Amino acid sequence: MYAEVIVDLLNSETDKVFDYIIPDNLNIKEGTRVLVPFGNRKIEGYVIKIKNQTELSLNKLKPIIKVLDDFVAIIPEMLTLKDYMVEKYNLRLADTLRLFIPSEMRGSKVRPIIKTYCELNLGNNLENIINKLPKNAKRQIELLSFLTKSGKTEISILNNKFGSNNVKKFISLKYILETKEEVERSPDYVGEKQTILKHTKEQERAIDNIILNKYEKYLLHGVTGSGKTEVYMTIIENVLKLNKSAIMLVPEISLTPQIMHNFKSRFGENVALLHSGLSAGERFDEWRRVRSGKARVVVGARSAIFAPIENVGVIIIDEEHDSSYSSESNPRYKTQEIADFRAKYNNCPLILGSATPSINSYYQAEKGNYKLLELPTRANGKEMPKIQIVDMLSEIRNGNMGIFSNVLKNELYDCINEKKQAMLFLNRRGYASFMMCRNCGYVAKCSDCDVSLVYHKYEDRLKCHYCGKRFKALTKCPQCGSSEIKQGAIGTQKVVDELRSMFPSVNILRMDNDTTKNKNAHQKILEEFSSSHPGILVGTQMIAKGHDFPDVTLVGIIDADQSLYQSDYRSPERAFALITQVSGRAGRKDLEGKVILQTYNPKHYVYKFASNYNYKAFYEKEINLRETTKFPPFTTIVRILVSSENEDLTKNVIRKIYNELADIYNSNKESFYYFNAMKSPVGRIKNKIRYQILMRFTKSIEGDIMKKIYAITDSEKCAKVSIFVEIDPQNLS
Ligand code: ADP
Ligand code: ZN
Ligand code: ZN
Repeated sequence: MYAEVIVDLLNSETDKVFDYIIPDNLNIKEGTRVLVPFGNRKIEGYVIKIKNQTELSLNKLKPIIKVLDDFVAIIPEMLTLKDYMVEKYNLRLADTLRLFIPSEMRGSKVRPIIKTYCELNLGNNLENIINKLPKNAKRQIELLSFLTKSGKTEISILNNKFGSNNVKKFISLKYILETKEEVERSPDYVGEKQTILKHTKEQERAIDNIILNKYEKYLLHGVTGSGKTEVYMTIIENVLKLNKSAIMLVPEISLTPQIMHNFKSRFGENVALLHSGLSAGERFDEWRRVRSGKARVVVGARSAIFAPIENVGVIIIDEEHDSSYSSESNPRYKTQEIADFRAKYNNCPLILGSATPSINSYYQAEKGNYKLLELPTRANGKEMPKIQIVDMLSEIRNGNMGIFSNVLKNELYDCINEKKQAMLFLNRRGYASFMMCRNCGYVAKCSDCDVSLVYHKYEDRLKCHYCGKRFKALTKCPQCGSSEIKQGAIGTQKVVDELRSMFPSVNILRMDNDTTKNKNAHQKILEEFSSSHPGILVGTQMIAKGHDFPDVTLVGIIDADQSLYQSDYRSPERAFALITQVSGRAGRKDLEGKVILQTYNPKHYVYKFASNYNYKAFYEKEINLRETTKFPPFTTIVRILVSSENEDLTKNVIRKIYNELADIYNSNKESFYYFNAMKSPVGRIKNKIRYQILMRFTKSIEGDIMKKIYAITDSEKCAKVSIFVEIDPQNLS
């Protein structure tokens, strides 16, 4: 027999299928990971097919060396998915297969923890044995009587107490039996007992409308606090009753301890959690609990869509509008599309849930491609918190130059006096967004990227938010020598500083990328906030999602315009979602909540609709705009990004690709709305020069054109230049 093997090398030359001989003594199936000879090296690889014949001459073929795992690592469904992804996204085979297993498995970096246990061999007569032992063998006798009392014991304990020679001797004499057992490294989220909720009529209707055992896409549009999680959990329960399994995805940053506690208490050991906060060992063991079928409910961030789970009965994507569901680095893919593939393969429902569905998803629901389910009110019957829009220009006119409007200040004082909690949202970490010379206009920039540096006061450093490089803060302008240095727009650090001087005795916490680098830091901040009365939590979009703090009565959005005025056609959609999410943190239990939204453009339609929680009116406005301006979902945007360290080389490649594409453009002019080559908005990152081609064309020709685009870009690939093709990219910088 022969095996088709993909070797685990990220090299375009070797990224194809190689044939190997399967030796008779090896148990190899499709999906098994193996070690194979490759040139004069030994390399890990994946068997993707087993066959009786090979076209190659036998003297050229080598046998597989060994099998790497005692289970099949890649299930048949994932082998099919690999073909789909390679074709759809033009990915390399090895890149794709790597997505399907924990990275720790490659190179056997992590292994299962196996512990050895000992117990008495009851087949022996203990008294006889003891009588045979010399009288002075005190420790040996003690060992036997210890085991009589304690039963099965870990060998290391016995070795310490009674000496490893004695233990070894008894094992070889078969007085003691040795067993090996795997110990699982499971993340310890304890589930607390939950009261069983009586479903609201709306929840009941949504649950009844979802048909199991049938492929269908659903869009669950439910306001924040409407009890979507309860709907998900009930559906999962029903799926488990059918002896099937479930995948539920949430954005990485909303994988809060709350969600995990909820799922653990409902499904116990049946849940596996897959996310980046786990240690390598934990991730490996959780993955294997899924693979072995011990855990049939997978909860995780984006990459959990590749969980090796069989017989899937439902796939749920919570906060489906979240941009983290698109992978932005190689290998690029869209989670919704993978989920759709798996739902079809398993003939099961795919449920997309959100309080603010993406414009595209809602459009699909309108067209009847998704079934729309709605939860228009909060589960506890409470009103949504009132959102008050504050015009910051009129604050300035009235002499208030500070970060906080008078309204927000007053609300903060009230909230603190009543010993309640407030959350202040600002989507910019650091202290000031840039440092600039007032005299000559010099702006501090990263040496490796074409972006300005952000000032971080606590470290007194300038940091590049693209590559992470750090620089000395400016005290004097390096260009003109002036010491008149101006700071740009404020960040979370500065908000905290201000608050500390306003409320010296109040616990003020900050949650952003800078304060949550360490494992569990996230959880610690949330726990501390939860027990602070009064308390204020300042944060970036990390605080916008998933949290359920009953005593938060005030939410402040410090600079709403910051998300709105990004040069991206989705900025209004993202701003609307963010405002809705953040506002949803207030007044979740018995206390009434209030939201203060600060802006320099109080009349903007996004604020008008968001402050009334009027998603549908917002959607109508936005979809009309997209139609007239020819943006998705009415067109497909494709970006070809070329980057290298050499500017001339980059320009040459982009020109060549552009010229070849011109043919396609010329013969499809009526379907094209845009076609241009240019330097990328951020022209340099990590010292690589970036150029791009942008295209916009109707959906109807997408399939055809993508194949041609891939063929052209593939032919230009070389070691010094990287070329990425992205369809509807989340980020156009
Ligand atoms: P969403 O995900 O839609 O924002 P959650 O699932 O977080 O909402 O639910 C919000 C709150 O409502 C939670 O505290 C939850 O326990 C509660 N809840 C959910 N369903 C019910 C119900 N049927 N009756 C009472 N409370 C409910
Ligand atoms: Zn200067
Ligand atoms: Zn940089």
